Amino acid sequence: MYESTRGNLYGQTASQAITLGMVPGGGLFVPSTFPNLNWQDLQGLTYGEVAKRVMMPYLSDFSEEAVAEIVKVYSDGRFDGEDPAPLVPVGNFGVLELWHGPTAAFKDMALQVLPDLLKNSLKHFNREEDVLILVATSGDTGKAALEGFKDREGMHIVVFYPAGGVSPVQERQMTTTEGLNTHVVGVVGGNFDQCQTAVKGIFASDTLKTQLQEKKLIFSSANSINWGRLLPQIVYYYWAYLQAVKQGTITPEGKINVVVPTGNFGNLQAAFYAKRMGLPINRIICASNSNNVLADFFKTGVYQSQRPFFQTISPSMDILVSSNFERFLYEMSGRDSEKIQSWYNASNQGEFSVDSATLKECQATVYAGWANEEETLQTIASSYEDYRYVFDPHTAVAMKVYEDYLSATKDQTFTVIASTASPFKFSSNVIRALAKYSNSNCSDEWEALAGLSQLTGWKIPLGLQGLDKKPEKKATPCSPEGIKELIKKMFIE
Ligand SMILES: *Cc1c(COP(=O)(O)O)cnc(C)c1O
Repeated sequence: MYESTRGNLYGQTASQAITLGMVPGGGLFVPSTFPNLNWQDLQGLTYGEVAKRVMMPYLSDFSEEAVAEIVKVYSDGRFDGEDPAPLVPVGNFGVLELWHGPTAAFKDMALQVLPDLLKNSLKHFNREEDVLILVATSGDTGKAALEGFKDREGMHIVVFYPAGGVSPVQERQMTTTEGLNTHVVGVVGGNFDQCQTAVKGIFASDTLKTQLQEKKLIFSSANSINWGRLLPQIVYYYWAYLQAVKQGTITPEGKINVVVPTGNFGNLQAAFYAKRMGLPINRIICASNSNNVLADFFKTGVYQSQRPFFQTISPSMDILVSSNFERFLYEMSGRDSEKIQSWYNASNQGEFSVDSATLKECQATVYAGWANEEETLQTIASSYEDYRYVFDPHTAVAMKVYEDYLSATKDQTFTVIASTASPFKFSSNVIRALAKYSNSNCSDEWEALAGLSQLTGWKIPLGLQGLDKKPEKKATPCSPEGIKELIKKMFIE
């Protein structure tokens, strides 16, 4: 069963939590208890089988057959290669490549199964309405969600992205999506946080909800506030561990560290849940870019989101209001919903400080650091020099913070770096970092894509090939304030 982080709802089934997306009235759904799962019981299984074993206990109102059907996405050819999430040994650590799905970002790991989780959830209520999925994106979620939901019967999807705030490849990926049920909106004069706030505002609007109901439409969310997004992400931490065992790289104490390039805290929260379920994780390392609100929090216990917003070369981490952090604080405070309510009270205007016991617990669980733009570019270059391995800018942030962690702690625990995007998705900046080795023109995104392939000998991911030539469905421009009206115009009038 699921409950709200703010103590305003209890005893909800998985289907209810997934259909609703977030708790009406504020708060996020979290499991009321955590199942234990021994990695030893998963040895020799395929990724899909592991996924089934990890997800089943959280989906108690789903049939085993339904879940078996859902996890087929990991082996039906949508992910390239045999293994949807290979652990690649690099130096004396491992890189967990989570970007072998159709859109070349780790969001596919969850967004390829979310539509089926949602479809099955709706079946339980015999709902006959269509679902309207609203997504705010800092770049990668948008395309992964469009790809997951396109041409799904009974489902419509609208994606909001900050116009000018995503990479040219990310934008093209979104505007070239096929499907009659897909819509893309470029929010002019807004950053990701404003997109996310506007979308949350729509979810909270009862008038809009009623008007849509009359049109036989209900809202849901494909952002990582939805439990159906987090659940599939727990799987690959188990998978990483199983691979490390197979490769013989686990340290004698039997533990691993994981490093997570973080934005909305979904990926990191999934690692935390894996640890809670009994996966032997030692340290979880949280890596931020110049939008270092989390790194500051772990140092001071003060969450201060009212600060300058930086547009960086790791745009999917350009987030100051990190939604899933609420789920983390819920656990760190000993599941104290009253505290969560006081911290997330709107009148705090994006600033709160936690008590010292909670801060201590946070610091014992997570090591946090951040890397600036220069360091990110340098790390791409130095990793190429040292290992002939090319990181995308997001994963490079993680790599840099891992290096800082190593010098600070000398911790020899085998470490897994969660690699969240293919370097091809951010070719021009990657080529800029590697200018010493490549004479491709880094100011032309499409030329950089080919240049990167030439330099590494790696194939351009299928989803990024020929993007510049595909027919485009231009994004609808809209101001943050106009989003509600736009939804009305599209689906109600
Ligand atoms: C979404 C994303 C992140 C941030 O993940 P969260 O779960 O939001 O913390 C990091 N890197 C890339 C490439 C992403 O697409």
